Amino acid sequence: MKFNHLLPRWEQMHRCPEGEEHYYVPTSHIEATLQHVAVRFRCKKCARLTAAFLDQPTYHTNKKLINKYIGEDK
Ligand SMILES: [Zn+2]
Repeated sequence: MKFNHLLPRWEQMHRCPEGEEHYYVPTSHIEATLQHVAVRFRCKKCARLTAAFLDQPTYHTNKKLINKYIGEDK
């Protein structure tokens, strides 16, 4: 599954070099600060890296999915 909905809107508007929608999946690069959790995402199609700064409630809502995905990806 893709996680594009967790990214900022301008990142969702951005397209792969082929003109298609990016297919962002989380990487294991996750950094937590007091207010935010920065999660690095990589596009499965073009390997573009980007990061999303999720607020704590959003992160906790999606934590299981992200961890599950990272676990499965290894
Ligand atoms: Zn892409």
